[in-house]
Amino acid sequence: MKECIRCLYTSQHPFGLDFNSEGLCTGCITHDEKFTLDWDNRFKILESRVSEILAAKDRNAQYDCVIPIRGTPEYFYVVDVMKNKLGLKPLVVAYNTQFNSEPGVRNVDLIREVFDVDYVQYTSSPTIYKKLIRETLNKLNSMRWPFLAGYTQFPVQIAAEKGIPLVVWPYHQPTEQAGMHSYTELNEMTRRGRHDFDLMGLEPHELIDVGTLIHPSEVEDIHYPSNSDLKKNSIVGIYLSNYMPWDSRRYSEEMIAKYGASAAKNKRTFDTYDRIDDKTYMTIHDILKQAKLGYSRVTDNLCREIRFKRISKEDARNIEKYYQASYPKKEIEFFLKWLGMKYEGFKWYLDHLPHSVNEEETDTVTLNEVQRKFIDSFIVNHADVHQTEDYIVYGKGLWV
Ligand SMILES: [Zn+2]
Repeated sequence: MKECIRCLYTSQHPFGLDFNSEGLCTGCITHDEKFTLDWDNRFKILESRVSEILAAKDRNAQYDCVIPIRGTPEYFYVVDVMKNKLGLKPLVVAYNTQFNSEPGVRNVDLIREVFDVDYVQYTSSPTIYKKLIRETLNKLNSMRWPFLAGYTQFPVQIAAEKGIPLVVWPYHQPTEQAGMHSYTELNEMTRRGRHDFDLMGLEPHELIDVGTLIHPSEVEDIHYPSNSDLKKNSIVGIYLSNYMPWDSRRYSEEMIAKYGASAAKNKRTFDTYDRIDDKTYMTIHDILKQAKLGYSRVTDNLCREIRFKRISKEDARNIEKYYQASYPKKEIEFFLKWLGMKYEGFKWYLDHLPHSVNEEETDTVTLNEVQRKFIDSFIVNHADVHQTEDYIVYGKGLWV
């Protein structure tokens, strides 16, 4: 196993990292383009790419683009750019995680409100969603697959149905983490990319089986539109990170200041903006990720902070240990109750994964002054993601 000389990633990163002769990883190498490319010029390239795509727009189409959102501050940024900087009329859409937190629901509602946009949400039936989670937990040790399948399918489906040629994603995760493409390649969304990374190589139809008791109709709504549907509507999915030096932290803080987006304390990471919409992300998902890959979301957050030169590798290493020592047992038990699985069943998965996770909260890692200050520099303007014990499955009307 090889570790990058700058960040915390190793050669075991699932997106495939490579290293140059000095030992710098491809993620860090691509990230450096954020400091060196002419981003004013790249924004002009975005403007011309968008007008080129919109030339194919159906004359009767009501919207210029589809923007998939989640209830976190950085999605405000995507809508802000497309609506206010480029002057487009977006249709904002979301695939419901069903594990929504209060700050997450507030953020989605606020996006509708402040940008005055139409919004469509798709929520799969709880029975089917649970079935898919059980099955992919078995096959991939992942409880995120059904969400990722819906999140990457529904916006494209809506675009095809409504004759909207443009879908706008914030960034391409394999590029942000592992430097898969140079920003100058202007990588766009493909069925293959979705298959390899979002779906972890497993297509919805592969779940149909007598053994799984999953019926074809139960995966219909997560099937990617056909090539002919995509072609007929000339649908293109772009990543904004190719046209602006994407910085989730900076953009989130701008959106909190400008629109009052909610930030909140998270379990297992210092980042108060990342994935605060989904109560399972930094709990059960993060524990499974650590048991599977040997690192967790805090590592992703720290690699970004190191690359932006906001923390040293040494301090990051200690913060990583500090958060990985926390074990959100209460939240895991709550999820398992929802899924109808016993804790022993979950433990079986954990025990069969390559990296061990300590199931007791340990507080042996202490943070120094610099590390505490770094953590405190993240804004918290809303109560803890986990302040209520329930998931908020749908709607607003949370507060009076
Ligand atoms: Zn690196």
